[in-house]
Amino acid sequence: MRCQALTRTGQPCGVPALKGEDCCLFHSDSETAQSYRKRAHEQAGYVSRRELLGIATKDFRDLAAKTDAESQRQRLRLIPLLSQLINETQQLSKLKRLAKEKGLI
Ligand SMILES: [Zn+2]
Repeated sequence: MRCQALTRTGQPCGVPALKGEDCCLFHSDSETAQSYRKRAHEQAGYVSRRELLGIATKDFRDLAAKTDAESQRQRLRLIPLLSQLINETQQLSKLKRLAKEKGLI
């Protein structure tokens, strides 16, 4: 399901809605959405990889095609999530390499 909200330009938002909700991460006022938005602003806070993949990749791909100001703001909000995903992926690669070197895997 796609977000039912309209952007400031009057266009349908179009971003995938949160599971069980009518609106996306950015337009929903639910506790879930507020929680996700709060986490996005707390760069040092922990967000699971599953959440990162569910929110960031799916929404970001849709947002990437849009050029309006609201979409640009939404993309900026996703940057902390994407940064964390990249950091975690890099850390995981280092751990795997170390584990192989030590003969653990
Ligand atoms: Zn929306």
